[in-house]
Amino acid sequence: MSNEIEEIQREIMAFRDERDWEQFHNPKDLALLLSIESAELLEVFLWRKPNEVDPEKVKEELADVLYAALLIAQHYGLDVKSIIREKLASNAKKYPVDKAKGNKNKYDNL
Ligand SMILES: [Mg+2]
Repeated sequence: MSNEIEEIQREIMAFRDERDWEQFHNPKDLALLLSIESAELLEVFLWRKPNEVDPEKVKEELADVLYAALLIAQHYGLDVKSIIREKLASNAKKYPVDKAKGNKNKYDNL
């Protein structure tokens, strides 16, 4: 079965390489990019009620966030599906259903 996430990462790298941007894509600057794009996503919500948020703007900024995150994963050779599944397994231990269901508290206060 093809890994669609890896396929997207290859498309991102092709986009990057056509522009000779790999030279700028060190982990520190990619992390800064991720943070900046996350802030741009937050800005879409700033001072707006939920019904005033433009889903097109959410889509645009979320794509930027994912672009940066996927480049970081690629830089470190991380398998995106695996790291998400590992984190879900870890969070499942921290937040067992019997204690966490319907509870918004942090794991150390369940
Ligand atoms: Mg942006």
